[in-house]
Amino acid sequence: MNRPPETRRAAWHERWQELRPEPLRPFVEVVPGLYQVRTRASRAYLAVEDRITVIDTGAPGSGERILEAIRELGRSPDDVSDIIITHGHLDHVGGLPELQRRIPARAGIHLAEAHHIDSDDPLPNPFTHPLLARICEPYLQWVDPGRARIDVYLRDGDEFPALGGMRIVHVPGHTPGSIALHFPQRGVLIVGDAMQYRFGRLMLPHRLFTQDMAQAAASIRRLAELDFDTLCFSHFRPIVRDADLRVREFARALPA
Ligand SMILES: [Zn+2]
Repeated sequence: MNRPPETRRAAWHERWQELRPEPLRPFVEVVPGLYQVRTRASRAYLAVEDRITVIDTGAPGSGERILEAIRELGRSPDDVSDIIITHGHLDHVGGLPELQRRIPARAGIHLAEAHHIDSDDPLPNPFTHPLLARICEPYLQWVDPGRARIDVYLRDGDEFPALGGMRIVHVPGHTPGSIALHFPQRGVLIVGDAMQYRFGRLMLPHRLFTQDMAQAAASIRRLAELDFDTLCFSHFRPIVRDADLRVREFARALPA
């Protein structure tokens, strides 16, 4: 593509901003009222207003980090009204039982995955490769967080009041009950593991942990129909400007 030099320079500057090392702060404000918290093995989000919504809970052992971030914001853990889980992988739901022992917030996950969480059985093995699944099984059994209570079974289109309106978007593929969270009033989309953002490029979710890649691609096409400026992931830094244009470009390039 032949772009004028100043446009190319701006693009390179933006790319550099995305590639430079990220400060290792325990939490950062992504947009006013929305904070990203480093948890064990992943990132959680806090939507903070009168009430606080926690989005994902990290791997087991992350509960205290989330409560600490809430206290550092000058708020009480008792202000948490809802805990929303993007999908039932260990690094997203692992901190939920710990949080539930400390705070009475209601917990929600898509109805396709609720039975895995509210169960005495270990979480489903996330590896799609049979040999890797078998090798990792003893470790997964060992770190399994145990049963958590699910109060709300989420469906596509459900709405919560957080940050002027938080809409549940069902994005199956990575797991059958994966969800994204769209905040149209704030121009934010949180996609969990439905997409990756490596080396400044959007990518399909990780092949090793994604159950149905064709379905994951179809879900990304669906997300490309939404309007948002800021795109937040569970394992990567956010894209903070014109993110919907990037997702549309990426979705067009996906195989049909
Ligand atoms: Zn995952």
